Amino acid sequence: MAVTIDKNKCTGCGECTQQCPLDALKVEDGKAVVDEGACAECGACVDACPASAISL
Ligand code: SF4
Ligand code: SF4
Repeated sequence: MAVTIDKNKCTGCGECTQQCPLDALKVEDGKAVVDEGACAECGACVDACPASAISL
């Protein structure tokens, strides 16, 4: 399991990549992508995203 990123909402700001304690997020081609194997579903990125693009 991992978080879901709504690519229509994501602005590529990178805020979530700075908040993930496991480095499971990165921005590729202007959109956040999650390494599903690394995500522990802690929820930190969900709260950090200013565009509300991430959900658990
Ligand atoms: S839920 Fe936690 S572990 Fe998963 S991508 Fe977000 S911040 Fe990282
Ligand atoms: S914080 Fe939200 S808008 Fe910014 S890169 Fe991450 S998912 Fe996209």
